[in-house]
Amino acid sequence: MPSLLLALVLAVASVLSGGATGSVVGGLASGLASGVVSAGDGGRAAAPLAGRIVVIDPGHQLGNSRHLARIDRLVWIGNGRKPCNTTGTATAAGYPEATFAWRVAHRMKGRLERLGARVILTRPTNSTALWGPCVDARGRRGDVVHADVKISIHGDGSYAPGAHGFHVIYAPDSGLTADTYRASKRLALGTRAAMGRAGFARANYIAGGDGLDVRSDLGTLNLSDMATVMVECGNMRDAGDAARMTSARGQAAYAHALVQGIRGFLAAR
Ligand SMILES: [Zn+2]
Repeated sequence: MPSLLLALVLAVASVLSGGATGSVVGGLASGLASGVVSAGDGGRAAAPLAGRIVVIDPGHQLGNSRHLARIDRLVWIGNGRKPCNTTGTATAAGYPEATFAWRVAHRMKGRLERLGARVILTRPTNSTALWGPCVDARGRRGDVVHADVKISIHGDGSYAPGAHGFHVIYAPDSGLTADTYRASKRLALGTRAAMGRAGFARANYIAGGDGLDVRSDLGTLNLSDMATVMVECGNMRDAGDAARMTSARGQAAYAHALVQGIRGFLAAR
């Protein structure tokens, strides 16, 4: 009975946190309607991403470190159990990964909506009062509406000396992700290329140096029924990466590159 009670409390808390953020989402969503743009010749043409649905997952909620019991709860990730979420990392000066991911995601949302896409965020706020969303919910977000593509935004936290650069993670050609593997790999390759064109260096400390990693232990990837990648945009413990990850100009560059990756992926379909 106590465990049932706990489940009920968590369910209510989850609904409440969603409800509390709903008004914020409403404000953000009001700019969604620009699905058509005027063509240069005076006629009208569909926006390049009209009819597309993009899920952006801005990683960990800012308040996760204040709700450790909740984010430590184990959830099913398709091939085992893992904690609902983690706190994420931060720069040496304390700039949180959650805030980096949030700001990049928000810039991406604006760009994608101006291109005509419908954008779904897995969390609609960056708040110290909230926690989650759990990796299983992030993984399933967008499945019901058959979203076209999902991108999860993170920053890494390696203490290895000199460790810097980005890497793109996708799930293997097996199990739950066998059916999305090819599309996710293509998205990963396009994302890596777009990051490279924007001047971001591939990670020199992980994934063999090619900027790509295949992992089967991430619920965000495993439970997603669409092309999905997770991008570790840089190492927040590295001074150079941290400078770009915390500046408005750097965040805009990340957002631009990641949107270019999505555009390329969708254009080739
Ligand atoms: Zn992370």
